[in-house]
Amino acid sequence: MKYFLPDWDDRVDPGYDFITDRPTYERDTYRDDIYAHQVFDPEPCYDGILVSRSAMAKTGLKRELVERRGFRTFFRLPQHMEIMGDCGAFGYIDEPTPAYETAEVLDYYARLGVDYGISVDHIIVPAYPSQRLARYELTIENAIDFLRLHRRQGAAFTPVGAVQGWDAASYAESAARLVHEGYTMLAIGGLVRTNTKSIREILSTVVATVGRRVRLHVLGIAREGLVGDLVNLGIFSCDSASPMRTAWASANRNYLMPRGSYTAIRVPFSEPVKGLGADNVVSRGGTASLAELGRYERTALEALRSFGAREGGLQEALDAVAAYDEHLTRKGNDLPRERRLQSYRQTLQDRPWERCGCAVCVSIGIDVVVFRGSNRNRRRGFHNTLTFYRGLLGERRMTRQALTSLGGEGLRGSHEQDGSSTIALP
Ligand SMILES: [Zn+2]
Repeated sequence: MKYFLPDWDDRVDPGYDFITDRPTYERDTYRDDIYAHQVFDPEPCYDGILVSRSAMAKTGLKRELVERRGFRTFFRLPQHMEIMGDCGAFGYIDEPTPAYETAEVLDYYARLGVDYGISVDHIIVPAYPSQRLARYELTIENAIDFLRLHRRQGAAFTPVGAVQGWDAASYAESAARLVHEGYTMLAIGGLVRTNTKSIREILSTVVATVGRRVRLHVLGIAREGLVGDLVNLGIFSCDSASPMRTAWASANRNYLMPRGSYTAIRVPFSEPVKGLGADNVVSRGGTASLAELGRYERTALEALRSFGAREGGLQEALDAVAAYDEHLTRKGNDLPRERRLQSYRQTLQDRPWERCGCAVCVSIGIDVVVFRGSNRNRRRGFHNTLTFYRGLLGERRMTRQALTSLGGEGLRGSHEQDGSSTIALP
């Protein structure tokens, strides 16, 4: 199963100074900042990037650059990585109809260069029960139009039919209709808010209906506890930003390891710093002057750095962090103070950054577990993405080995069986 990272402009300043917290002088964030795949090159950290139409600004510098150079050049994506385009149906979920027209989306994909382009869909949500059938039929009709236009124009990318539904039977029926129309690849959408058990049921029903020769992409899902199922079901690809975003969006699961996770240590900027990204913590509790806060902040950072270098002690670092922590106003996803300090202790004690060996952990050391500004938080997200991808590669290897151990006969047999599980047409 391939893994695509949805694009949310997750780039870092390669020359960021972690000691002085200064970004590169006069840098241009589009020209100079780098993506995860560039940080880890030559080790791949995903198979490609998913670009959503609704996440792409209509105007502005990014749009201009993408229009001028195309996606691949804009992302500086190596040849072995791929680009998938979709409309980002969550962006217009509350509108009665999708925000885009089929012909225009097809042209957009072809012009900006995608390897896979997904037809214009409309998510079916319980909030609009009266629109259920209309959204369902619209998604199917759009997919049929999309394929017809794609053929007429001879577009180079692989057309992907979007499938929406509300239960296993409706998903399977839509998938069957699209395969009957000629699709060899489908994208299953609208599952982000669905529980894991129902996702399993929906996907296995779709696979059983269309057979394993139809490639399936699962939109927005790379959930822990589900990845193994997806691989076993023969799902072609998935995408998810959660390994990246958990680095700063979760209260405690910020730094992922192959088994388990760690909480990042929050040392926010005591004063807002322009261009360094927002922290999840506002640092003015009103209990200390700005000058005092600045002193607590510096002491915490120095103690952590010294602990990272195996010079200072653990308790000293924790005390310094706790002293600063006491004056911070909490906001967003965060643990209660006692639990927070407990989990900080665990993070420091285990020194997971020393066991990882990825380009981020090797180059910035303990700073990868410090929750502070986008240059640390995103780098931790990069590390998480790589850790997730390495895990996925492990799953892929295990499945291949299991198939190989079935022997040549067994393998052929199972493929024949898959091919013959023909589509039940409505
Ligand atoms: Zn790492």
